[in-house]
Amino acid sequence: MGKASKDKRDIYYRKAKEEGWRARSAFKLLQIDEAFSILEGVRHVVDLCAAPGSWSQVLSRRLYLPALQAGRPEDAPKIVAVDLQPMAPIEGVTQIQGDITSTLTANQVISHFHGEKADLVVSDGAPDVTGLHDMDEFVQAQLILAALTIVTHVLRPGGSFVAKVFRGKEAALLYSQLKILFPDVTIAKPKSSRNSSIEAFVVCRNYTPPPNFRPEALQGLLDRTTSAQDDRGEQTLEERLLVPFLACGDLSGYDADQSYDLPDDNYQSLDPVQPPTAPAYRSALAFKKQSQGKLQAV
Ligand code: SAM
Repeated sequence: MGKASKDKRDIYYRKAKEEGWRARSAFKLLQIDEAFSILEGVRHVVDLCAAPGSWSQVLSRRLYLPALQAGRPEDAPKIVAVDLQPMAPIEGVTQIQGDITSTLTANQVISHFHGEKADLVVSDGAPDVTGLHDMDEFVQAQLILAALTIVTHVLRPGGSFVAKVFRGKEAALLYSQLKILFPDVTIAKPKSSRNSSIEAFVVCRNYTPPPNFRPEALQGLLDRTTSAQDDRGEQTLEERLLVPFLACGDLSGYDADQSYDLPDDNYQSLDPVQPPTAPAYRSALAFKKQSQGKLQAV
């Protein structure tokens, strides 16, 4: 598909380039914030699975740059972004290249806060989708578990957590488990997220870990073979709790599933705001070249 045709078919892709966002995902965080004001009063924030960085850009533009522009650099929030992939720099964002499922990365994130806690943790993590729904949902759940482990170490009581989820058949169980840590959990589907996509976002507010909660207990929380009874006394793991669902973003605004005509015939398609720093195709091409060289040598 040509760039211009994608511009026409995907309004958020086009708008992202026009507004200087590295990815169309920026609109998802912006629309979640419109509905839930999750950025209000935030001073410390962690962006997990952040590359190429459009959510970090939102955090920088909405939280960091205003403090600088107001001449109050001392009030500038701390923003820590983590991804497996390297990311081009973003003003006011400290980057960690690492795997969020590893303890090493979790400790690196924690060390950046020097004992202070974060007000918000966001995670837009997605595994490389295989198309096998059960497998994709499982890996996604592992990413949420890893994100939650970091949350339990860095989030202040009362803080918020936003994470991408796949709405598969285990989703109800995941929501009920989140409700053990957050009394207020809503499923959000921003306008900019295509209806055809099974992704949605859990918006978890008012972090309230149960008394005597040990973060290590989390491993058992998402593992159906382990009972949560040890940590929760009377709580049954299979308990299903009703979680509200909210479509967010201006409902009469752009629809991610619709095609929009370009503004005029002379419309110039824009280049991506930030080309990939380490695209997978680069190593694939190098690998292909290398194997061709070997074949010629035979
Ligand atoms: N929020 C980002 C933005 O706005 O630019 C987009 C995130 S993208 C949809 C998903 C990211 O999850 C990818 O960059 C991928 O490298 C990252 N990811 C997947 N598994 C990860 C892991 N175990 N640790 C760290 N990052 C991971």
